[in-house]
Amino acid sequence: MASQLAGDVARRRTFAIISHPDAGKTTLTEKLLLFGGAIQLAGEVKAKRNRVQSRSDWMKIERERGISVVTSVMTFEYGGNVFNLLDTPGHEDFSDDTYRTLTAVDAAVMVIDAAKGIEPRTLKLFEVCRLRDIPIVTFVNKMDRESRDPFEILDEIEQKLALDTAPVTWPIGRAKTFAGTWNMAAGTVRREDSQIDPVPVNGPESDGVSGLLPENERETFIEEATLAQEACRPFDRQAFLEGHLTPVYFGSALKNYGVRDLIEALGDFAPSPRAQESDKRLIEATEPALTAFVFKIQANMDPNHRDRIAFVRVCSGSLNRGMKAKLVRTGKSMTLSAPQFFFAHQRQLADNAVAGDVVGIPNHGTLRIGDTLTEGEDLLFRGVPNFAPEILRRVRLGDAMKAKKLREALQQMAEEGVVQLFIPEDGSPAIVGVVGALQLDVLKERLKQEYGLPVDFEAARFNVCRWISHEERGQLEAFMQKHRQAIARDLDGDPVFLAENAFSLNYEADRAPGMTFDEIKDYQ
Ligand code: GDP
Repeated sequence: MASQLAGDVARRRTFAIISHPDAGKTTLTEKLLLFGGAIQLAGEVKAKRNRVQSRSDWMKIERERGISVVTSVMTFEYGGNVFNLLDTPGHEDFSDDTYRTLTAVDAAVMVIDAAKGIEPRTLKLFEVCRLRDIPIVTFVNKMDRESRDPFEILDEIEQKLALDTAPVTWPIGRAKTFAGTWNMAAGTVRREDSQIDPVPVNGPESDGVSGLLPENERETFIEEATLAQEACRPFDRQAFLEGHLTPVYFGSALKNYGVRDLIEALGDFAPSPRAQESDKRLIEATEPALTAFVFKIQANMDPNHRDRIAFVRVCSGSLNRGMKAKLVRTGKSMTLSAPQFFFAHQRQLADNAVAGDVVGIPNHGTLRIGDTLTEGEDLLFRGVPNFAPEILRRVRLGDAMKAKKLREALQQMAEEGVVQLFIPEDGSPAIVGVVGALQLDVLKERLKQEYGLPVDFEAARFNVCRWISHEERGQLEAFMQKHRQAIARDLDGDPVFLAENAFSLNYEADRAPGMTFDEIKDYQ
């Protein structure tokens, strides 16, 4: 049994794709699923998204604005490995959702547009990965178009991200003459992804490599490729796993080049599920007892039933349908009667899931983001973070009779991670906080559709919010007493200090030695 579990865990690769909008994340996702046999026709990811969206009214916002709010997981198999690809919203207004999803992966693929190089959002998401030491595989996309010189792209990654690069493949030609990828370490060429097995070749001068190019390009290519092989850093798996080095692959997701190289790289080099830090001890992925944490809650597609799916990352043991698990936050036991797997276009009851897998657990509000499930052990996973919101608004309700209902609805939205909720200590109306304005649109739409509560938002006096603490409880209480009108409590009852701007925050902080003002709060 134990060795069966170890074998199953070793085959798992759980990853996300990070990129700037338009670099080709959706196209690459489709191709990964296509080559993994999870979908028949490329294009279904988008088509499917539209179909799902049309089922739910609040998702109109996504459809109208052409953005994807929903994070989901897609599973496919390739070369004996099981890949769990966690999708993230493309729009930066939903970036806290993306950050939470990145807590649930063991590796990330960074997609770069070959003509544009490192763009702002790539940089930001890369920084989040670095904070968590997530190893990164780089895919330089759109080589079928006019692009930058590959050396220049490698240089930019090294400079802008302070990350060593090791090109594993090298593009044979560019733009119109792009003809395939040469794997420098393996000494093979793959012309297109329809070619499953790469062909052994004898180096850049050979017919199988430079011979694929028009005559006038061969000489330059041979020089460049020889230089790449001799001068670039070789791939070092340890440095990759520690997050110091990224292997680089070139290709074109649209034209089916380099995608198989990438999947094979993930299979060969990317880590199987990592050990996870908890407040008590490090949990190994192959331990027999179940541990898991919730990193995402999604309202069910059916607004009439108001049930939710909690996305759970299994960290150890196995999650079996019908088993009982302890929700450590409340100490209560819950039966996992209908855990679900998500595929590209369907859900399916999950009979058994192991470390690295992501399972959806339907519930009516029992589970919150950051919750830990175990088979009884009292431990909490840390690290599903809360980011201080950048926009704060008071919620104004036309009908005062519905204040209680509003409070409940806001509480639920906050538990789902749609917005953050802060209840002021002085009894004034609730404040919601978001990192991007579109989240407010989603909140407004959902309050109207699902709860019949038409609301408006008005500017709060505050624009900055920080979690406060002090080693001495008395000092914290004194500070809160003194600034009562600027103190609120979050969903967990933890106090925050609200300030008009960064200047006034610093002013108060300078006058309160020993107080900590945190921009990031871990959920537990
Ligand atoms: P996302 O915003 O990162 O998900 O990007 P998409 O996958 O939606 O791609 C953005 C645009 O770039 C679309 O028009 C794609 O067809 C196009 N695209 C994606 N990959 C490639 C590629 O390899 N080559 C070319 N020429 N176009 C691509």
